Amino acid sequence: LSFSSCNLPERLQENLETAGYELPTPVQMQAIPAAFAGKDLLVSAHTGSGKTASFLLPLLSNCVKYRLGNSSHHKKPLAIVLEPTRELCAQVEEQAKLLAKGMPFKTALVVGGDAMAGQTYRLHKGVELIIGTPGRLIDLLTKHHDMIELDEVFILVLDEVDCMLQRGFRDQVMQIFKSLFRPQMLMYSATVTPEVEKMAISMSRDLICVAS
Ligand code: AMP
Repeated sequence: LSFSSCNLPERLQENLETAGYELPTPVQMQAIPAAFAGKDLLVSAHTGSGKTASFLLPLLSNCVKYRLGNSSHHKKPLAIVLEPTRELCAQVEEQAKLLAKGMPFKTALVVGGDAMAGQTYRLHKGVELIIGTPGRLIDLLTKHHDMIELDEVFILVLDEVDCMLQRGFRDQVMQIFKSLFRPQMLMYSATVTPEVEKMAISMSRDLICVAS
């Protein structure tokens, strides 16, 4: 598999070249085609494996294709990435911005510590992707449910599922999942414990496990 065989938008292909991504990493080779095929995935992958781009590339492509086919004025979010910490959220946003340069793709960070007003303002203006921590997103959904409509979200990424469970985010993640309409699930975990597997199965239809 090469990036050029993935049928990515031309601009995304150029951005990959600029970023110096020549060949897909093993995780990307396995996860990208399965994600494009619409599968729910549980990927065992560590930081440094290229896992972030393995979910961002199909996510970005599908969001941009969706927008081109639906010229609605009201840009509701199409995808959500949940991370256990705000630092990880910031790293994902950085990589998303790099890959999405010049494309109609906006992101909103929904993390604790920053003023909620700025985050809701961005959401109100219209974004494709929400990158957030479970607690803050629930907070926002509770306090500003009129501002944040998730009925068009078709991809949910759960990164570092093992860490999410260790931090006690299980119920919050489930609550977010249940507020969506059967999204495609892309889940990543450094270690796949029985608990991680159980949670992944409970949120998927036919789960594919990817070990790199
Ligand atoms: P991650 O595992 O997602 O934290 O990614 C680790 C680093 O590898 C990040 O800094 C990415 O920018 C970089 N990276 C991801 N995919 C590729 C690739 N195919 N070629 C070169 N670098 C990559």
